[in-house]
Amino acid sequence: MEESKQEIQSLTNQELISKVDFLAKEERRITVEVLRFLREIERRQLFAELGYPSLFAYCTKALRYSESAACRRIEAMRAMRDTYEIESKLESGELSLSVVTQARATLRQFEKSARTKVEAEKRKDVMLSMCGKSKREAEKSLAIEFPAALPLAPIVQRETFRGTTRVTLEFNEDEMKVFEEIRRLSGRPQNLKETLLRIAAKELTQLKKARGETPVRRKQSPSPAVEKKEAAPSAIHSSKERRRAIPVAIKRFVWENAGGRCEYRNPRGERCEGRHALEYDHVAPVSLGGLSNRDNLRVYCRQHNALSANRLLGSKLMAAYIPALR
Ligand SMILES: [Zn+2]
Repeated sequence: MEESKQEIQSLTNQELISKVDFLAKEERRITVEVLRFLREIERRQLFAELGYPSLFAYCTKALRYSESAACRRIEAMRAMRDTYEIESKLESGELSLSVVTQARATLRQFEKSARTKVEAEKRKDVMLSMCGKSKREAEKSLAIEFPAALPLAPIVQRETFRGTTRVTLEFNEDEMKVFEEIRRLSGRPQNLKETLLRIAAKELTQLKKARGETPVRRKQSPSPAVEKKEAAPSAIHSSKERRRAIPVAIKRFVWENAGGRCEYRNPRGERCEGRHALEYDHVAPVSLGGLSNRDNLRVYCRQHNALSANRLLGSKLMAAYIPALR
């Protein structure tokens, strides 16, 4: 099956062309096959069981896809799940992973900026109208159809070899005028980056003041994601909620004990690397009489919190909270 260098060199032009044509088709077929498997892995939440905080982490770490390759595959897999017809279009090459990713990103931005939901039927039409388009052509037609999505064009961030981050920003005329006005009123030429950094520094000082943080960095405080879950005392009414509420001192203890990382370990004992969307998880759930004390609490990422709840309370009940299980 696999040709050596000599064998390839001895092929006729015709053979060379038809062989590479065959291989490109195989490549697409295998890609779609990978997507089908990813869909099932997501449905079973298997990546969480293996100790990954997300399907994305699983794709980059376990399957060794680059971040952008993982992103494109996950987007295409979800598009395939939403619209059955996409599968064959990907396989035939009429749709590419990057065009599908682009279309889904535009739809998301449109929904966010227009504060509306695009109906399933319309989504399908949009996706299928991308068939045969290059990435550039797709971008163009999406921009015409969803102008509202434009101001939220993604901010491109790239790490450079120097260890810095290069950010590409796109401003429309009105947005750019703000900076021109600042330049005009201050009477001196200003570098856009400096202006943005000055504004950011002011914002940071204000936020620190509002949150009672001194300018000196505190050693390790609970992340905002966890802090958010704290209910105001007046919001606590039922006895169940009272049991669920976790005293701040206990939270701090549990958080520091976990080192601000998800504590889940897979069957091989490897620990999850999740540091985002962390939640306090009751080892014995509140609904089964579990208490909010040091021994019964741990820090889990959202995926692993859901996984443990799922195991304890039965998947039927939890299916309502995890879309992929429905
Ligand atoms: Zn986790």
